[in-house]
Amino acid sequence: MGIIATPQYTSWEPLIRDILGCTKCRLHLSRRNAVPGSGRVDSEILFIGEAPGATEDEMGLPFVGAAGKLLDSVLEEVGIKRDEIYITNVVKCRPPNNRQPERDEIDACSHYLESQILLIKPKIIVTLGSIAGEWVSKRMNIKWLGVTRMRGNIYRGRILGLEVIFIPTYHPAAILRNRGNLEDLKKDLRTAVEELSKLREKGEKGETGSRRIKTLMDYIARRDQREEY
Ligand code: URA
Ligand code: SF4
Repeated sequence: MGIIATPQYTSWEPLIRDILGCTKCRLHLSRRNAVPGSGRVDSEILFIGEAPGATEDEMGLPFVGAAGKLLDSVLEEVGIKRDEIYITNVVKCRPPNNRQPERDEIDACSHYLESQILLIKPKIIVTLGSIAGEWVSKRMNIKWLGVTRMRGNIYRGRILGLEVIFIPTYHPAAILRNRGNLEDLKKDLRTAVEELSKLREKGEKGETGSRRIKTLMDYIARRDQREEY
């Protein structure tokens, strides 16, 4: 069965505000900062991780700890600039002791990520690890068989009505534990770059260079001025 989107947000400002103040699941009790996501809100590529860790919780930004540093270096190597993409997580608050988010927490939080997808309208979705991979597969009606069996492939289909290319890969934190998979992570991200350039050649969303850059950092800097996102 397909999952029907229940998008609540048609603009960024209330979405980010509600995430920052959210109390819809128990994770709000132990978080320091909710982590909505960061990057270009009109990015053609969306990266989705699992949940914020300690550093992310402290800074309010995704992928800024050890796993994020590894991700940055791989992104740089394959030619993706962090500020060109949007990156977020399935759940926006850090689970205690970095445990995996639980089913009811994921369910409570999912409508935020669904709204983000509908606002960004990415052409390519890269998932990092099994929580994000399973979240996306479910919404694309693809059977999730685990990262090891799914990665190395691209999946074309629709998510929430949007046509996307889904590229599941390892979580960078898993690479930190098992360096042996680093080359596969790079390979998958190179695939994302290749698919993006094919899409650009086809002229879809062709005006990328001139699109306005908006980042969460901008949002934080300007939110007092009520700039519309
Ligand atoms: N791991 C994640 O899944 N997300 C982050 O933001 C940081 C670490
Ligand atoms: Fe709200 Fe999601 Fe944080 Fe739970 S994890 S409190 S649903 S923002």
